[in-house]
Amino acid sequence: MTDFPYRLRLPGPTQVPARVQAASAQPVISHRGPEFHALMRGVQAMLRSVFGAAGPILLFAASGTGMMEAALANVLGPGTRALIITNGQFGERFAAIAQELGGIVDPIEVPWGEAVDPALVEARLRQRGYSAVIAVHNESSTGVVTDLAALGRITRNSATLLVADTVSGIGGIPLEQDAWGVDIVIAAAHKALMCPPGLGLASLSAKAWGAIAEDHGVPRFYWDFRRCRDAAAKDETPFTPPVSLVMALAEALRMMSDEGMAQVLARHRRCAAALRAGAAAIGIENFTRTASLSDTVSVFAVPPGLDGGAIVHHLYEKHRTVIAGARNRLSGKVIRFGTMGEIRSDDILTDLIQLEETLAALGHRFSRGASTAAAAAVLGPP
Ligand SMILES: *Cc1c(COP(=O)(O)O)cnc(C)c1O
Repeated sequence: MTDFPYRLRLPGPTQVPARVQAASAQPVISHRGPEFHALMRGVQAMLRSVFGAAGPILLFAASGTGMMEAALANVLGPGTRALIITNGQFGERFAAIAQELGGIVDPIEVPWGEAVDPALVEARLRQRGYSAVIAVHNESSTGVVTDLAALGRITRNSATLLVADTVSGIGGIPLEQDAWGVDIVIAAAHKALMCPPGLGLASLSAKAWGAIAEDHGVPRFYWDFRRCRDAAAKDETPFTPPVSLVMALAEALRMMSDEGMAQVLARHRRCAAALRAGAAAIGIENFTRTASLSDTVSVFAVPPGLDGGAIVHHLYEKHRTVIAGARNRLSGKVIRFGTMGEIRSDDILTDLIQLEETLAALGHRFSRGASTAAAAAVLGPP
């Protein structure tokens, strides 16, 4: 297995570092015993610093979408009104979930590839009251980052909650939940946090806890954040947690704290910039021209005459490298690379070497070797 030349270069799940893999293979322990309590205390302390939040971080056995639904189930119910920013696939998913839960959904439809102008949100909030403004921090379908700090300045002194999905952002781009005034942040551990899939995370502000105490939300049991908070106060979860994944997360967080969070974020920024520079040098342009570019997900427009699916397929068949296309309206038109987690310079250079071989095989014309030269200039000395 270890020498199987399989490169997981998706925007999630991401490659699991050997240290994290080994941690997840430890014997399972009781989730009500002292060993788990100690594990939970360590994870909580490290997570609080990654979220930039003072409160307990809630852990659930869930994918990211489970956490999106959990967040809304705790604050929306039949007849409550939510303002949902839809500038990509995950914003649209939030709107679909809110609708399913019986909420009244007012979308702010932003063209895919653009970030929302906070002034638009402010104007909508002046028109009427909303229970929540719902945003995707790092929109993985387009590679665009939402300015949560600006949204937080708008909602902070009102009854409206700011709910954000940072599933593909946390650990790879800056997040300061408390300082920015984000009321509910949901995430998952299988993207920049480098864990195998299955562990969901949520963090709530005092304002969010206050709103939940008024018993907003749909009928819920497993997903009731209050039950999870009460268990967290005892260093536990209300029900059996994915113990092995919590061990994996503890190790991943230790790796990040050993490297230093500022260094982790700088490495993501450098790798993403190098991949974009390399791609641009061979005529593969970024999907969006926005300045609010993600450092964790790089999305490229497929040049005319080529098909994104064919690029994805060739990279896998020839190189066993797995990148993403799109499973939405951009299908065939974009290719997407994760630039998060354990990503390093050599990963970016390998991506580009393989991308050049693929594009040449598919008939794209460019100057061979230009991408790695451009990327190396950004990456600096090895
Ligand atoms: C990956 C992702 C999710 C969740 O996806 P799951 O497949 O349910 O884990 C949610 N939001 C964003 C922005 C994502 O990138």
